[in-house]
Amino acid sequence: MDTQVKPAYDDSNQQIATDADMTWRATVLTLFPEMFPGPLGISLAGKALTSGVWALEARDIRDAATDKHRSVDDTPAGGGPGMVLRADVLAAAIDAAKIAPERPRLLMSPRGTPLTQKRVAELASGPGPLIVCGRFEGIDQRVIEARGLEEISLGDYVLSGGEIAALTLIDACVRLLPGVMGKLSSGMDESFSDGLLEYPQYTRPQEFEGRPIPDILVSGDHARIDAWRRAEAEALTKARRPDLWVAKKAQNVVSRPRKDTTKG
Ligand code: SAH
Repeated sequence: MDTQVKPAYDDSNQQIATDADMTWRATVLTLFPEMFPGPLGISLAGKALTSGVWALEARDIRDAATDKHRSVDDTPAGGGPGMVLRADVLAAAIDAAKIAPERPRLLMSPRGTPLTQKRVAELASGPGPLIVCGRFEGIDQRVIEARGLEEISLGDYVLSGGEIAALTLIDACVRLLPGVMGKLSSGMDESFSDGLLEYPQYTRPQEFEGRPIPDILVSGDHARIDAWRRAEAEALTKARRPDLWVAKKAQNVVSRPRKDTTKG
């Protein structure tokens, strides 16, 4: 594949500058750098990218290929269908990215630990990760071990490549960065933030196809509204995600009472 025109955020000089400062940065290793920033270039994430709240560097794995065909993959040892990304090429691509040691090194992988809001919040509060995107049948096991890659999965289904998974992970992190979503960025009331799914939301019109907004939400009684939302969140979580509900109850047993985060 031809090297794409490198956009401004894909400038290696900029990386040296921003690794030294506090800008949250995602460095993505991919065979398709033109997929970035993609949907992250619009709306709140896009504005925050343009204004320098966060930085994105998409690096082409193929730039690390050494043979005249710039090949990055080969047939699986032991036989079988498809192709596997070569350990030597991918390791060279990781090394060339000169990632500071404190930055997490992730591999998007269906075999990985399922991504959670907790891990997203950890990643968002750090310096920002390196993210390796697999393609084909995946990548050579030895590079995972030799470069200490943490495998992260989006869920129990198989994508054709790690790029959409990386975009998803970056999106989830970026919306938590200070200054990206304004007041909303506290994420206090959101699904998973307190181990529960979010309560139902309503807005105008007051009546839609014969369905009114629940009376309590227009009562102006904030204590009762908070209690109603809490009860709805618990009922939804119990019904839809018994796994989360069990974990939530276990957490309540072992942890100290939480600070009251309700807003007046
Ligand atoms: N043969 C592999 C799948 C390879 S899919 C297997 O059965 O495990 C090609 C690439 O897409 C993977 O290397 C990974 O980077 C990405 N990918 C696929 N499914 C994914 C998922 N659920 N979560 C994160 N990345 C995924």
